[in-house]
Amino acid sequence: MKCILEVEESEELIVGYGARALSPHTAAAFERHMHVCDACREAGEMQKAVWAALDQWRDLVLSLSFDRAASASERQLTRAAQSR
Ligand SMILES: [Zn+2]
Repeated sequence: MKCILEVEESEELIVGYGARALSPHTAAAFERHMHVCDACREAGEMQKAVWAALDQWRDLVLSLSFDRAASASERQLTRAAQSR
């Protein structure tokens, strides 16, 4: 197999691999290629790291907005209790 990085759509392929957006067939072909190609293995691992970081960031944002929503409803409850 020719190195994927030398093909024009390589960027889409590697980004798609990181995003798990490739068809199973394409993903399998890319994985087979990564076993024999250092450059693609490196690129694939970097993409995976980027998406792992994005996942962590999303979790962080979700937990922050949850905390904010929780403390906002806590304040509302306190206010409701005080106005009684
Ligand atoms: Zn390659």
